[in-house]
Amino acid sequence: MTTNDISTEKLHSLSKDGISEDLFKLLWAKDELNSGPSINIPDTIVYKYGTPVSWFFTSTNGKIKKKLKQNLVSAKIEETFNKHVLGYDVLAIFISMPAEAEVTPGGANVIEYLDREALNNFLYNRKKEVNGILQRFIEPKSTRNELVRAIWSPKVCLLERSENIHQLHDHRYGLYERCVIYEGPEYYTTSAPLRGPVLSGQLQKLCEEVVAHISEVTFGQKQVSRIVLNFKVDSRDKIWLMYSTSIRCLDMLDYTNPTDAATTLQRQLLNIDSVVSLSNTVHLNPAKTYEKIVPKKRIRCLSCARDTLEDMRHPVTYKAIIKHYEHILHLLADGSSSGKEVPKNDRMISWPPDAQIIEAAGGVGFGCLYITDVGEVMNPTQVMHYTKQRHVRDLKIPPVLHNIHYKLSIKSFERCKNDPLFLYKTVQVCEPCYLVYAEFTTMLLRMGQDLTKLLTPDPAAAPALDRASTSHLDRPSSADWRAISTAKTPTAGKFLLFFILCYFFSSHNNPIAAPFLCLL
Ligand SMILES: [Zn+2]
Repeated sequence: MTTNDISTEKLHSLSKDGISEDLFKLLWAKDELNSGPSINIPDTIVYKYGTPVSWFFTSTNGKIKKKLKQNLVSAKIEETFNKHVLGYDVLAIFISMPAEAEVTPGGANVIEYLDREALNNFLYNRKKEVNGILQRFIEPKSTRNELVRAIWSPKVCLLERSENIHQLHDHRYGLYERCVIYEGPEYYTTSAPLRGPVLSGQLQKLCEEVVAHISEVTFGQKQVSRIVLNFKVDSRDKIWLMYSTSIRCLDMLDYTNPTDAATTLQRQLLNIDSVVSLSNTVHLNPAKTYEKIVPKKRIRCLSCARDTLEDMRHPVTYKAIIKHYEHILHLLADGSSSGKEVPKNDRMISWPPDAQIIEAAGGVGFGCLYITDVGEVMNPTQVMHYTKQRHVRDLKIPPVLHNIHYKLSIKSFERCKNDPLFLYKTVQVCEPCYLVYAEFTTMLLRMGQDLTKLLTPDPAAAPALDRASTSHLDRPSSADWRAISTAKTPTAGKFLLFFILCYFFSSHNNPIAAPFLCLL
């Protein structure tokens, strides 16, 4: 291997923020005396468009080497990475690099921590367009993951050690919670300047060696003026160079005038912010294990038949459901076309009720009637076929409860209705349904649980109402409404109920309630 492999044209991107694969290439390149720096680097595989293109590592003699092309296969990579495991679940990191065309300021290097399963998935199911470096995870000296960052310039070398707040083997926390350093939120790490002359001296020397070597292998064309290098110290006090996150060079070919070079050098400040970030699919949560993100389950709400997210559901008591349903049933029975002489229980009503009535009742409590056996919502034709006339006495059980307790007879239901244990059982409904029930319950409390009084129609009012509308379920004209409301008779029970219902659900922008409301 000779320096001819390093063509200076290819290195134009050396001066940049973010992970530099060129750094590994340069470290591997030999100078004129066929020697290179003695630096430990972990197995580092450069990926281009989803394919491994080069594999750098430090051989036993301490020199950086590159594996032969035939070794760049997933099976070999997996074998090597699994060989060095010391008891931690994390095996490797992958830092993706944006394609050169799409390099944006601020960097788009995304780091992934891979355990055995994730590594296997990475090697065999990786997307084709990915660029980056796959690096073996180096177990830290302490029990916490750490990184030593060296900010080097010819005059000064600042060293900072950052370590994660969680122990690496503490599986109560997720993989990312235990691994993140600079890429995570600040509260995940503690940082302190590196003190003590021995390690500081060694690190500074390594930085200088790297810079000197780059200058040598590029025949002085690339003079690194500033560099940020990230190191790790393992349990055997071996120092590993992980990667660089920012490099500034003085390209001697670019400048003919030395003062130009000096001013440019001043302007090109290093980026010491974290240029490596976490993927947006990783959500850190110090309280919980990092698990694979699975799509949230959707469940059909029994009350409204709408698809709702599993975690957006709230409990409603049977009592609220029963109270709400009783009001609607009263309304329906009163509105049935059977004569007033027929006892309420013997009246026939169309079932399921008219969509407009369900809507006026807040759109809750009837959804399960429209759910088919396979969990789908019926289309209007199916509903039409399904609708039939039924006796009110057969409809005493709220549909939601009937759906849950399908074996519950009306007789037992009547008994259960007085049992507090039954009444305070709950059923999970979606958020909008929950709010409707909550509002209904509040209103009920405010009315002293006595809403039923309002539901009993006065027979004297019946003829007037019959005249006023052709069908009981038709909306009264606004003139009727005015007559009823100005007369202030207690006769308008049915419409008063409608009125109250409309009032309840007015906040839900109920299209049916709105016209009634404006009559208030
Ligand atoms: Zn619902």
